[in-house]
Amino acid sequence: MSDAEEQGNGTVPTGSEGENAATEQTIVLVTGGSGLVGKAIQRVVEEEIPDDEQWIFCSSKDADLCNLEETRALFEKHRPTHVIHLAAMVGGLFHNLRNNLEFFRKNMAMNDNVLLACHELGVKKVVSCLSTCIFPDKTTYPISETMVHNGPPHPSNFGYSYAKRMVDVLNHAYNADHGRLFTSVVPCNVFGPHDNFNIENGHVLPGLMHKVYLAQKEGKPLEVWGTGNPLRQFIYSYDLARLMVWALRSYTEVEPLILATDEADEISIGKAAILIVNAFGFRGHVVFDTSQPDGQYKKTASNAKLRKYLPDFKFTPIERGIQETVDWFLHNYEQARK
Ligand code: NAP
Ligand code: GDP
Repeated sequence: MSDAEEQGNGTVPTGSEGENAATEQTIVLVTGGSGLVGKAIQRVVEEEIPDDEQWIFCSSKDADLCNLEETRALFEKHRPTHVIHLAAMVGGLFHNLRNNLEFFRKNMAMNDNVLLACHELGVKKVVSCLSTCIFPDKTTYPISETMVHNGPPHPSNFGYSYAKRMVDVLNHAYNADHGRLFTSVVPCNVFGPHDNFNIENGHVLPGLMHKVYLAQKEGKPLEVWGTGNPLRQFIYSYDLARLMVWALRSYTEVEPLILATDEADEISIGKAAILIVNAFGFRGHVVFDTSQPDGQYKKTASNAKLRKYLPDFKFTPIERGIQETVDWFLHNYEQARK
């Protein structure tokens, strides 16, 4: 048993019980391998790599995936049999609000290029990432996998959302026309070591961690943007990594699969801020700047489909995930993305 499993971090049988039981060498290429999720997958697979698997983690330094020729060259070089496609322009509410066009164009280009290169090389399986923030703004709850295309997304991030929805269109079209097994998973808000701690562009948890760090240093109050009322499900990056490795080896549907914590574990932004304050031992004031937008009030997603496959999966308690991430941020402040 790994250290993480002993500590109760999300556990899942990621072993080669699925389609890869064959002796043929499996070459897994991970796009976006230098990011939050990519680094977590790297740590999880390095705990135990089966002899017949080789994993390659790529970043934008290896190829600009917005460029088709660079994408083709990367895939020709490694000739993967399996792909986890994470590379994307990613950001929090405020980054999205300012850059919908760029989010749409870059993500459309990357997704189209990567899936075309996978098709041309006959890649056996691709797992791409959607997000629970791409679902319709006006919807019933809980949200399920069948609702991806039901209605317009929240206006704050329509560029990112429509580009991500098109991954599902591409997956179905490659399957219908060519029999390809290209699928997608749908994570909720992810956090963990190697996140983007930039205050203007990052997601709420890393943004608030950086703000508490500065508030503590400068003896100022912590400023939380918005009312603090919106609700979010947060998944620790190592839990998501285990689930994605399982999905690559064992999930065989083209239809998306939501990878979210239980609905009961959804918390408010205000509560999340308090958990971060506690993890830092911050004793200053906490103020809410209600002139800032709240974004979508909630996007409560059901993990019932995941639970059918993995009924016993245990998510890391959010308090522990936040404490580990804060500790990582403090130990790696100089190198952290910020
Ligand atoms: P991240 O930390 O920002 O990492 C993004 C990755 O994409 C990096 O490895 C980056 O490479 C690479 N990349 C960006 N532009 C590229 C380009 N033009 N060519 C090649 N590579 C490029 O993102 P993440 O949070 O790990 O997200 C991973 C996936 O999960 C994404 O598809 C995202 O949409 C999805 N997701 C994330 C969340 C979340 O809360 N973070 C929630 C739901 C879904 P460099 O390091 O070289 O820049
Ligand atoms: P979302 O979950 O896709 O909406 O994106 P975020 O991870 O950026 O979370 C946005 C929510 O957190 C909104 O309700 C914001 O008002 C709230 N929030 C509070 N403080 C911050 C902050 O410092 N950074 C960010 N990104 N969001 C914040």
